[in-house]
Amino acid sequence: MSYDIAVIPGDGIGNEVVDATESLMVDLAADYGVDIQTTEFDWGSERYLEEGALMPEDGLGTLEDFDSILLGAVGHPEVPDHVTLRNLRLPITKGFNQHICKRPSYLFEGVESPLRGYSGGDIDLVVYRQNTEGEYADVGGREHQGFQNEVAVQSAVYTREGTEAIVRAAFEAATERSGKLTNITKSNAQAYGMVFWDEVVEEIGEEYPDVTVERLLVDAGSMDFVRRPDEFDVVVASNLFGDILTDIGGIISGSLGIAPSTNINPSGEYPSMFEPVHGSAFDIMGEGIANPVGMLLSMSLMFEHLEEEDIAEALWNGVGDQLADPEAPRTPDIGGNATTLDVAGDLESRLL
Ligand code: NAD
Ligand code: MN
Repeated sequence: MSYDIAVIPGDGIGNEVVDATESLMVDLAADYGVDIQTTEFDWGSERYLEEGALMPEDGLGTLEDFDSILLGAVGHPEVPDHVTLRNLRLPITKGFNQHICKRPSYLFEGVESPLRGYSGGDIDLVVYRQNTEGEYADVGGREHQGFQNEVAVQSAVYTREGTEAIVRAAFEAATERSGKLTNITKSNAQAYGMVFWDEVVEEIGEEYPDVTVERLLVDAGSMDFVRRPDEFDVVVASNLFGDILTDIGGIISGSLGIAPSTNINPSGEYPSMFEPVHGSAFDIMGEGIANPVGMLLSMSLMFEHLEEEDIAEALWNGVGDQLADPEAPRTPDIGGNATTLDVAGDLESRLL
């Protein structure tokens, strides 16, 4: 088999974790007889500062022919965050109907959770985040800027297609895992979109009689991610709530730097995109100490999506074995003093 992968390292530590792991991904696949051709795109904030756009106008047209996309992260201290997010990541996820953002939170053996009493394997949940609309729909406006009667409107949009896609994916996952699905919303306060969402969960739930559905409001749900994370299995949530819950999921599993993410186009009509949950991390960029594990696990999820299960498993288990080994190098976010390259290099010597 052979795959064409578009690689967008992006900004800050996005660049650093991609640089450290790309050759490992290619070489590991080759060991399994799979040929990976990567094409790098220098899209991101540096390009924006020089040319006024994060990516070319026909960027999506360029990406369309690839089998998958890997993204590091975007975000730059000199560019407003809404500019970077809304001009690169969101056009790709929305343009390619990547409705499904699947984000596992797993507490690996050898990694310390900041929560008392949890050890390896105790946290093992997966959040299905709606990824193309909801609170991140580009719908709103501003009037009378700077005046006392100034108004800013930010609307959330829930379509049947976008909602059904994420809810169905979550039910499918629950069927394959423990049969438990937690639906996290704010339908007490948001009586249009979120009540519609709950109705879709009920409708689709009728097709999955073996799945038990638990309902939580997002404030209590966030608390429970901290209080009883071991009781969650599959979680489904809107774009904003899923975004927030998965940062919590990252840190309770030891570090945001470990958390992987996928942006899946369910029809397969367009490529899907894989990236760590974290951003470009202004506080540590340039230091070479970013944890590459989130990127590596995202690559594993990419192989899983491409139905290259053996490679996906080898990479996931290799990372797990490395984290479990007290002698292995680890980055400062998980209590070590190694560099990004040390960790990737050690994993190479284990896997290749
Ligand atoms: P962030 O995820 O970049 O960082 C949050 C915290 O986690 C920081 O303290 C950081 O040092 C730490 N951290 C994150 N990844 C790490 C890693 N791999 N290893 C070790 N520590 C790690 O979030 P932020 O600070 O809110 O955002 C910084 C920039 O990134 C902003 O411009 C934001 O818009 C952008 N961002 C982009 C994406 C994306 O590209 N998908 C996602 C989130 C944030
Ligand atoms: Mn986020």
